[in-house]
Amino acid sequence: MPQATMHQPDAAGRDKIDCPDAFAEWRAMLHQQLADKALFEQARKAAYTYLDEQPNRRVSPDPQVLAALDLFDQPLPDAPTAATTVMEQLDSLGSPATIAQATSGRYFGLVNGGVLPVALAARWLADAWDQNAALYLSSPISGKLEQLCQDWLCTLMDLPRGSVAGFVSGSSTAILCGLAAGRHRLLQRQGWDVNRQGLSDAPRLRLIAGKHAHATVLKAVAMLGLGTDNIEWVPVDRQGRIHADSLPELDDRCLVMLQAGNVNSGAFDDFARIIPLATAVGAWVHVDGAFGLWAKASTTLRSLCDGIEGAQSFSLDGHKTLNTPYDSGIVLCSDDEALRSALAANGSYILYSQERDGMAYTPEMSRRARAVELWAVLKFLGRSGLDDLVTGIHQRAVQLAQGLKEAGFEIRNEVAFNQVLVGLGNDEHVRAFIAALQADGTIWVGGGTWFDRPVIRVSVCSWATSPAIITEILATFKRVRMQLGLE
Ligand SMILES: *Cc1c(COP(=O)(O)O)cnc(C)c1O
Repeated sequence: MPQATMHQPDAAGRDKIDCPDAFAEWRAMLHQQLADKALFEQARKAAYTYLDEQPNRRVSPDPQVLAALDLFDQPLPDAPTAATTVMEQLDSLGSPATIAQATSGRYFGLVNGGVLPVALAARWLADAWDQNAALYLSSPISGKLEQLCQDWLCTLMDLPRGSVAGFVSGSSTAILCGLAAGRHRLLQRQGWDVNRQGLSDAPRLRLIAGKHAHATVLKAVAMLGLGTDNIEWVPVDRQGRIHADSLPELDDRCLVMLQAGNVNSGAFDDFARIIPLATAVGAWVHVDGAFGLWAKASTTLRSLCDGIEGAQSFSLDGHKTLNTPYDSGIVLCSDDEALRSALAANGSYILYSQERDGMAYTPEMSRRARAVELWAVLKFLGRSGLDDLVTGIHQRAVQLAQGLKEAGFEIRNEVAFNQVLVGLGNDEHVRAFIAALQADGTIWVGGGTWFDRPVIRVSVCSWATSPAIITEILATFKRVRMQLGLE
């Protein structure tokens, strides 16, 4: 290798350039850290201990552990801290203050999946790679795996040839991308280039959504400058599904927002009925399928998605039903050009290639290579494993609902997928019941409101939730009910 010459004497023998190196000592230390690996061994050991303890610890941290987080409250240090001390503090104070959901199978809040070991391992390796997934040239392996994941997912979802995928942080961003593509295409058909001309004088688009559209759909509408006040709300049935008969007259200026998996009830809109009505008049349909779109992978649940392939864009998460690590959302779009136009960026230094350049399909430029874990999970499970995973999650939700019903609890939804909404005879008791369950610590469930009544909201989404764990939950529900004297 040619040596860079820092000190070049001139004719008189004087140094022409004096080039100090403020980071020299640090660099030597960092190379030492890389060489002796103690830091990584420390992290690995801590991670193993953490995972080993998952089955036996509280799901949520107890108050003492949370109080100890105050020990982090120090001013930005003037002097360096040894890296092993940094890691030691992170583990001793941080690990206990997590929610134990990675592999415990006992967390049922939001719609949180766990993590599959192969996905975690793939991420560890990918973290060592430190790739920038923006371009093929900045990460050939990421470009390759994104291409494969795109092909596999479009096949799994039965999307038309030429459909594309963007790998983003989560469904919030995926919805934003899908709606941006729709906005771009619908306006372009009206002779309007929204990228250049903006929205102030643009032809008006119409927004059609069910009354139960997810908060992040509304957020995307707001961020895209379309305005939530402009939504034409469609009434929903008792499961939160759009009432197809109540749809307004659709036309080619409509962005129609449907959902595969209502975030509370898990219900799916009637795609076979609604999508043909929309596409016949040139409307754009986006399906928010954050966790529910994976029903497509289950032979017993696939029919929930009948007709869904006709939509133009879709959003879904790896980090929910698929149990990849976090920060894994996907936008799928049958209109390649609309998606890429909506997200286009050019610069003289941005070197696009003939291969897959991930940033063409995402709002971000620099990104971590999140397709690595996605690929690992799809490859590991295959079609049959995906079927078993998704079907199994549904079966556990059904088992839970049946058991709770037999024990005298009210089940407030049809358990179409993974969500179970539980009521108590007296609404006043629901909040106390949820608080008592959460304090109990053996499982964690959240609450919500379903048609103006408070409910206990159970979201089954982890590979680790076994029939035995469901039996434990049933026992916990009964025990807490007895403790509160609610029998
Ligand atoms: C979780 C969820 C979202 C938001 O997804 P993030 O990955 O959290 O950004 C949107 N819609 C539905 C139905 C969801 O369940």
